[in-house]
Amino acid sequence: MSEAIAGLPPPPPGKPPRDASAVIVWRRTWRGVEVFWLEREQRLSFAGGFFAFPGGKVDAADDLVPVRGASGDAAKLVATAARELFEETGLLVARGPRLEPDGPRLEQEALDGLRKQVLDGASFAEVLQAHGLELFASDFRPAGRWLTPPYLPVRFDARFFLVEAPEGQVASVWPGELASGEWIRPSDALVRWEAGSALLHPPNLHALSVMNGFTSVDEAVAALSAPPWCEDFISRRLEFQRGVHVVPLETPTLPPATHTNAYVLGTRELLLVDPGAPDEAEARKLVTLVKELEAAGCEAKAVVLTHHHGDHTGGAQLVAAALGLPVWAHAQTAARVQVPVVRLLEDGEVLALDGPLPMRWRVLHTPGHAPGHVCLFDERSHAGVVGDMVSTVSTIIIDPPEGDMKVYLEQLERLRVLPLGALYPAHGPVVAHGVAKLEEYLEHRAWREAKVLEAVRSFALPAGLEQVVPRAYDDVGSFIWPIAERNTVAILQKLVAEHRVLVADGKYRAA
Ligand SMILES: [Zn+2]
Repeated sequence: MSEAIAGLPPPPPGKPPRDASAVIVWRRTWRGVEVFWLEREQRLSFAGGFFAFPGGKVDAADDLVPVRGASGDAAKLVATAARELFEETGLLVARGPRLEPDGPRLEQEALDGLRKQVLDGASFAEVLQAHGLELFASDFRPAGRWLTPPYLPVRFDARFFLVEAPEGQVASVWPGELASGEWIRPSDALVRWEAGSALLHPPNLHALSVMNGFTSVDEAVAALSAPPWCEDFISRRLEFQRGVHVVPLETPTLPPATHTNAYVLGTRELLLVDPGAPDEAEARKLVTLVKELEAAGCEAKAVVLTHHHGDHTGGAQLVAAALGLPVWAHAQTAARVQVPVVRLLEDGEVLALDGPLPMRWRVLHTPGHAPGHVCLFDERSHAGVVGDMVSTVSTIIIDPPEGDMKVYLEQLERLRVLPLGALYPAHGPVVAHGVAKLEEYLEHRAWREAKVLEAVRSFALPAGLEQVVPRAYDDVGSFIWPIAERNTVAILQKLVAEHRVLVADGKYRAA
C-alpha cells in the first residue's frame, strides 16, 4: 500500500497545503446525538456544493488569541477552530462569567453582534477579551488530521476537533460562503450521502460514521483520530457519494489537467470506468482499490471506456488483465482501441449493478468530442459520469474531423435536461450540482462562438485561422492558441454549416 502513496505526485512547488481547523460540533437531544453540518456554496473552488463541518484556514491573527492549556501551533489551531465555528455557526465555545448558565449572560442578540464584528474584521482576541472570555484547549478535543490530496487545486492540512455545543446558544448560518446549515443526526446525514444528495469528502464521511456510533467522547476521539484507508494523513479512498469511488490517476493528458479520474461504480457488483494511466504504478492504484473491495465481498464486472482517447484507455489492458475483466465500450470506441472490447454498449441500455445499494447506470451515447463517447447516468442517485463532455480543470477540445461542435453541443444540451445530481468529470474536481455546471458550460460555449463570429466579422477581408484565433481568444494567453485553434476550427465548421460564415481557400468571412 505504501507504494501507492509514494506514487502520488508531489504538491506543486510553492503551493504547500494551508493550515486549517475544522470542528465536529455535536449535541445531545432526545433524538440522540446530532452534529451541525453545512452545505458549502457551489461557487467555492474547494468542495463547492459539498457538505462539511465548520472550519477554515488559519488566520495570521489566530496566533494572538490566548488559549488556556495550549501554546504555539496547538493554541493557534484551537483559536482557528473557535473563530471559524463562531463565524460560520454563531456558536461561541469560550468560558467566562458571561457565558455561564446563571451569570449575567450574553444574550443571543449580543452574541450575534459580536459575530458580526468578527466577520467584519474585528480581532477575535480583542472581542473575547472585551467580554472576559477565554478559550480552553480542553473544550476542543483533537480528532484527526487530514491532508487534501495533491491533485486537488486547493489543499489544506486540516486538524479536526470534537466540540460539544455550548448550551443555550443557537447555531445558524448567515449567507456568504455557506448555502445552509443544520443540526442533523449522523444516520440521517449518511442516508443523504447514500442517496447522492449530500457529497462528502473523506474526513467528513469518516466523522459522520464515527458519530453515528457515538458512545463517549473518548471513544469518538480515538476513532476520529485513526481513520481507515489513510496514509500520511491522505485518504486513499474518495467516495463522495456511496457507490461512486473517484480514483484520480496521473496520465499524459492535456494541461493544465494532470490526471484522469477513473471511477469504480457500485456497492457490490462493480464497474471500472476509464483506467487511463499507462504508467503501471499509477494503474496499480486502481487495481489495488478493486482488490481491496473484492476482499470485502465486492465483485468487479467489467472495465468501461467512455471513449478511445489514450488518457482514458492507457491502462485498460493492464487493469483488465490484472483483474480478469472484460472491456465494454461503444462500437465506435471499440473500432479505435487496441484492447479487445467484448461488449458493445448502446445508447439507452442500463447497466444494473446489484448490491446493498443497487445502481442503474444508463448508457448515453454522447458523440461530439469523440465518436464513441458514452456517459453513464445513475437512475437512482442521478449521478452522471461524463467522461470528456465536461472538464472542471481544463478545456474540452473538439478536434475535427473526429470532433464535431454541433453534435457536441447537442449532446451537452441532452445532458443538461437530465435530472442530473453530482457530475463526475474525467478531469478535475467533482461538481455537486451538475445541471448548474452544464448551464454555465453551455453559456461559455455560446459566448466563445459569438467571439469567433465577431472575430471573423472584424476583418475587412476573408481571414485565416492565424488571424481569427488571436482575436477570438484574446482573453487567454497566447500559449493556449495552438490548442484553441482546433476548437476554433470546430466552431467555424458549425458556423459554416449554419450559413453564418463562408469559407473559401481556408479563409473565413461572415455570410
Ligand atoms: Zn478525450
